[in-house]
Amino acid sequence: MTIKRKPADIIVPGVLAQSGYHTPCELGLIKLDAMENPYPLPEALWADLAQSMRQVDINRYPSQSAEALKETVRETLDIDDDTAFMLGNGSDELIQIIALATARTGSKWLSVGPTFSMYRVIASTLGIDYIEVDLNDDFSLNLEAMLAAIEKENPSVIFLAYPNNPTGNLLTTVELDAILAIATGLVVIDEAYHAFAQETMMHRIKDNDNLLVMRTLSKLGLAGARFGYLCGHSDWIDQLEKVRLPYNVNSMTQCLIDTVLPRIDLFEDQASDMVKDRDQLFDEMKAIDALTVYPSDANFLLFRVDDALTLYQHLIDHGILIRMLHGSHPLLDNCLRVSVGLPEENARFLDALRAGLLQ
Ligand SMILES: *Cc1c(COP(=O)(O)O)cnc(C)c1O
Repeated sequence: MTIKRKPADIIVPGVLAQSGYHTPCELGLIKLDAMENPYPLPEALWADLAQSMRQVDINRYPSQSAEALKETVRETLDIDDDTAFMLGNGSDELIQIIALATARTGSKWLSVGPTFSMYRVIASTLGIDYIEVDLNDDFSLNLEAMLAAIEKENPSVIFLAYPNNPTGNLLTTVELDAILAIATGLVVIDEAYHAFAQETMMHRIKDNDNLLVMRTLSKLGLAGARFGYLCGHSDWIDQLEKVRLPYNVNSMTQCLIDTVLPRIDLFEDQASDMVKDRDQLFDEMKAIDALTVYPSDANFLLFRVDDALTLYQHLIDHGILIRMLHGSHPLLDNCLRVSVGLPEENARFLDALRAGLLQ
């Protein structure tokens, strides 16, 4: 009789060791867990969109090179003429493309901890050794430890979320310069929250051959479209393009993005409203004695309480879903993360938060 092999005999160890990425059931809850823009697509765009969507040849494969869309992207999204770039099905896919292309034996990735969890998940899947340098207690960078780790490990890729998720803060330009100066491999600056922070490394690409800048439209109001882009020197982008699946950005997304990008200002207006709302939410939370809230340059706030699990459940019982971080990293003991929602959602969150902390 043939003995069939089990998953443990076939699946790569990096996958077996993972617990999988789960999002809690959000039905009926106010969703403040995923840094989405809470505003629907601006009304002014619906007519244009209905028109252009009618032209999509859904029976055909999408444009493989997406030339037309890329031209619109370059014109509207602040990419220098001599910078190359590629498109991804969200920036998550771009991280995966970088991983597929760099997963040599002995290849190492380095980042800070805590940071965006997908760097580790994707690296581990491909057997890439993933190293994190712990941030300080206030979530600032331990520059000395970072530089020492870069020298010791000589990573092929360094990932830096700018601002960082889930801490919300930005590295300083002095820190970034020091990292760029010492790194021999790729440095990927993940600017998922650029719309809220405004700071960018985009224009530093021309004098840093090994710098890549990654952005996404997810946090700006188009999370459902799955669209990200990666900018850098053509020597790198040409190689990464070989790994990209031919039709990774589907026809409807190509059409949608091409139609709405000329009115990117409408999304940016929403983002600046959210920045004001974030600052107000920060002030309100800062006035609550029973918690510590950390300053943020993104569209979310990280905060610490005495008992995060109880508060998390209390908020769910009151119809509000935020992100539980306790247990995900030693520096995030009893921490939670809340995304900026609509003003009325933020108010409901604050009410439930105050009530939950009084118990
Ligand atoms: C949300 C997020 C992403 C993922 O963006 P998608 O384009 O939706 O895949 C990437 N990096 C960071 C730091 C994020 O917080």
